[in-house]
Amino acid sequence: MLSSLINLFFPKTCHACNTILTDNELGICVVCRHELPLTNYHFERPETVKKIFYGRVRLEAATALFYFHKSGRVQQLLHHLKYNGKEDIGRIFGNWLGAELLESPYFESIDVVIPVPVHFKKLKQRGYNQVALFAQQIAKVLNVSYLDDVLLKSRNTKTQVFQSREARFQSVAHSFYVQNINRIENKHILLVDDIITTGATIEACALVLNPEKKMQLSVATIAITHSIFR
Ligand SMILES: [Zn+2]
Repeated sequence: MLSSLINLFFPKTCHACNTILTDNELGICVVCRHELPLTNYHFERPETVKKIFYGRVRLEAATALFYFHKSGRVQQLLHHLKYNGKEDIGRIFGNWLGAELLESPYFESIDVVIPVPVHFKKLKQRGYNQVALFAQQIAKVLNVSYLDDVLLKSRNTKTQVFQSREARFQSVAHSFYVQNINRIENKHILLVDDIITTGATIEACALVLNPEKKMQLSVATIAITHSIFR
């Protein structure tokens, strides 16, 4: 009763298109959910994202839930998640991708989920790691552990958006470190991030997580930029 009253005066709106949500819609309206550009890589073309990392990092499996287009719905959703405090978008997408990974043969042997960390100064500024809820939710759905105290960020790298490809690789190359490595020994790790733009962040994390290439490493993100395949 109270919640419907609150809804009447402060209606919840879709994070992507701002239309008013019905009681059954959670965060994102049905229309937007249908129109979000799913990649389906974890079902149909499992090599597609892995190929980006050939010769750089060995991955067991890799996928992204959506394609990222400039000015598209996914961009708006990621922007809200990262800068506007709409942390629950991460939970929604984590549930979504988690359920799909459960159905995918390529992610069956995951033991542990690790989020790409943000620097503690950024964490203080923003109040949360935008990847955390997404990654936690995937771990929950897959029924595996979530570890956010293994991979850490040592340097506060600049926001990458305006940097050249070369500059991005340089600035993230040595900005991560690993502690409690015994907790991930002989495990199949699922490394989780919000977006793959060039692959530089994933590459940098993979190099510190698995320097001797003894472990199994896979990757899952909310989105991947379409232009990376050009
Ligand atoms: Zn919508």
